[in-house]
Amino acid sequence: MPAAKTSKRPKYKRKKKKLSWRSKPEKKWTLVDWKEWLWDTKFSPYIRLRDCLRTTGSPDCGQCVTCHKVYPRNRLQAGHFVPGRTDAILFDEDCVHAQCYRCNCVLDAWPEYYRFMQKEYGQEKIEQLIDQRDEKVELTVDWIKEAHEYYTKRIEEFLNGNNVFPDEGVG
Ligand SMILES: [Zn+2]
Repeated sequence: MPAAKTSKRPKYKRKKKKLSWRSKPEKKWTLVDWKEWLWDTKFSPYIRLRDCLRTTGSPDCGQCVTCHKVYPRNRLQAGHFVPGRTDAILFDEDCVHAQCYRCNCVLDAWPEYYRFMQKEYGQEKIEQLIDQRDEKVELTVDWIKEAHEYYTKRIEEFLNGNNVFPDEGVG
């Protein structure tokens, strides 16, 4: 994973619903579009594939980290442990795991997520991720393109049967 560039303060303001990157030409994409593009096409698919392989050994289905029910891969979502979606945590693999829609969007599954993180990563990592959220990081288009290439390769590796988990814990 390439290191994110550190510069300005994270932006918390979410603008009102705009056209998705899918419905406009690339040269009109804003930074938000670039981030969504990486999320939709590579990062979220990567996280869900990783957690399917990790929890069931199959790329087709996986366990929600908070309710532990098994769902088909396409019904899982990539849910953040630390809320806020700042640039500093948006694409941090250790902060994002497969969750079902209900746990990610309907229930407040924070206690269960906390318990999972404690078991998989330990308290020190939890503290680090919480602090990390407010770090001054601003993603750039170059970084996003590089990350897109990186996750393309990682997904291919997974689908080719190389279930390599390079980091400790879940990642
Ligand atoms: Zn769930």
